[in-house]
Amino acid sequence: TPVIALNDVRKIYPLLSGDVHALDGVSLEITKGEFVAIMGPSGSGKSTLMNQIGCLDVPTTGTVSIEGQDIGTLSDYDLTALRRDSIGYIFQKFNLIPLLTAYENVEYPMLLRYRKYDDTGRVQTLLDRVGINAALAAHRPSELSGGQQQRVAIARALINEPAILLCDEPTGNLDSKTSTQIMEMLADLNREGRTVIMVTHDESTAEYADRTIRIQDGRIA
Ligand code: ADP
Ligand code: ADP
Repeated sequence: TPVIALNDVRKIYPLLSGDVHALDGVSLEITKGEFVAIMGPSGSGKSTLMNQIGCLDVPTTGTVSIEGQDIGTLSDYDLTALRRDSIGYIFQKFNLIPLLTAYENVEYPMLLRYRKYDDTGRVQTLLDRVGINAALAAHRPSELSGGQQQRVAIARALINEPAILLCDEPTGNLDSKTSTQIMEMLADLNREGRTVIMVTHDESTAEYADRTIRIQDGRIA
């Protein structure tokens, strides 16, 4: 079974000005361990597609299956559990909490997840894995470079050791040298067996992927 399968997925936003067909019959399969890039012009449906793959939204029609489960048949509770246990999310703007230190940005979601403070050193282990030492981890996001912030965000995404990493323009706010470092890190995580799905505007970033899916007007081009 593919880790992710979409079958004739349509997403229609009904607007007063007329329906927007953000996804217009998308079918695709992604195999476990693949590294897939999604490219396409602004407004072509990339975010909508990522929201479907990430179980953040349900299709108007068609089916989305994650690890063989049709997400349309899951309760909200089970859908939340699937998101929490199987998927890590990485964003262009890092989405760190500004008032928390880098350490706390990883610790806090772990606290929410396990309902107790980590006493095993796992927070710093995750941060070390992405090259954020204890001294850096004591800083707030505003005191870190963009690359360092994205490393913290990657550590946060790895809390549950997710099988799938969804990355929405992970290097969109980074210079090219830093982008390369972050992409090497995503490539390592992929080599460990994780499925990586990434939206990018940048052809050189897409070269890290095994396959590029091009979206145009809500369809696979
Ligand atoms: P991309 O990520 O490729 O820029 P999007 O998936 O964000 O494209 O958008 C695809 C189309 O759907 C666009 O026309 C956009 O305006 C529209 N759209 C996206 N989200 C919404 C929404 N919540 N409500 C109405 N229209 C939306
Ligand atoms: P990006 O290109 O950075 O991914 P977008 O501009 O495509 O961001 O969309 C950001 C968010 O705004 C999307 O997740 C979508 O839900 C929402 N959005 C996009 N277009 C519209 C729209 N026309 N109406 C309402 N919400 C929209």
